[in-house]
Amino acid sequence: MSRFFSDKYKSLSPYVPGEQPQDRKYVKLNTNESPFPPSPIAQRLAREAAGDLYLYSDPDSKQLAEAAAQYYGVGTENLVFSNGSDDLINFACMAFCDAEHPATFPDVTYGFYPVVCGLNGVPYVEKPLRPDFSIDPADYVNCAMTVFLSNPNAQTGLALPLSDVERIVRSNPDNVVIVDEAYVDFGAESAVSLVGKYDNVLVLQTLSKSRSLAGGRLGVGIGNAELISDIHRLRYSTNPYNVNRMTAAAGIGAFADVRYFETCRKAIMETRAFAKAEFEKLGFEATDSKANYLRVRSPEIGGKDLYLALKERGILIRHFETERLRDWNRVTIGSRDQMETLFAAIREILEK
Ligand code: PMP
Repeated sequence: MSRFFSDKYKSLSPYVPGEQPQDRKYVKLNTNESPFPPSPIAQRLAREAAGDLYLYSDPDSKQLAEAAAQYYGVGTENLVFSNGSDDLINFACMAFCDAEHPATFPDVTYGFYPVVCGLNGVPYVEKPLRPDFSIDPADYVNCAMTVFLSNPNAQTGLALPLSDVERIVRSNPDNVVIVDEAYVDFGAESAVSLVGKYDNVLVLQTLSKSRSLAGGRLGVGIGNAELISDIHRLRYSTNPYNVNRMTAAAGIGAFADVRYFETCRKAIMETRAFAKAEFEKLGFEATDSKANYLRVRSPEIGGKDLYLALKERGILIRHFETERLRDWNRVTIGSRDQMETLFAAIREILEK
């Protein structure tokens, strides 16, 4: 830390992203990327946009908003885009949290929420998940705080039904409920249908997972027009050209190519069912995940030991050394071939 660093950020603990090692090629099952390349239409539009990179991008991402509006069945005034949904989580925290509207979220969820609260000096309350890792919706009903609800929940993949999300939104009319749907396309119910009904729900989605654009960095916020205009205000005060031309073009292709999107997400869900059954055959416990990952625990090998043994064999999964997650690992659902490679390695490790 330099002696010039502002006091206001000195106690910040930054987010630690999953490993993105460059030393060798791994079977990468650690950061919930898609095993499939982006839609061929998305790739073509991005390549074509490269020739226009000498011009600034459209600060309103109008064409992208039109493509997304059609997909979601909302107006373009209900949409905001940013450089990944992490960026939107930060904007939502800036916009809708303060001392009178502290944040709340589960103790086991996306690790970025406490980080942005720290960045913005926002107090927060973590509510423990039940022992089986499920969220008790009663923790958030009438809670009078700004709620960050990852649905399906990051880390566990467990999803709340829409009726519970709606109960939380309806019971907190003076606070915004941010429903982070990064993984919703893999089997959970989306809260986008609540946007026309409630002025206090902000749904965040990303094109990083189900649309194979993690490296493109594109997040989308969907909400009441007034909420969205609050985010635009902050966005225009931070970086008005926050979505670059190639990414906006890829996003247009990704929203338009519904058939490719459906094929990919279906393949992931099928492979997830296969992987869950394989883990269970090997004696593991696995969460009933509606996301593109499983949280798994073996009675025979500790979480960290399994992570290290797999890494040695060129396979990366995610281990978190926190109290509730230490015995577990998170495994991204890759292609069928990648999963077969994983299970062959796990069998070998367990035999040792
Ligand atoms: N929300 C959740 C729950 C996530 O797991 C992630 C991915 N790490 C994000 C948001 C951010 O995704 P991105 O910034 O790639 O859109």
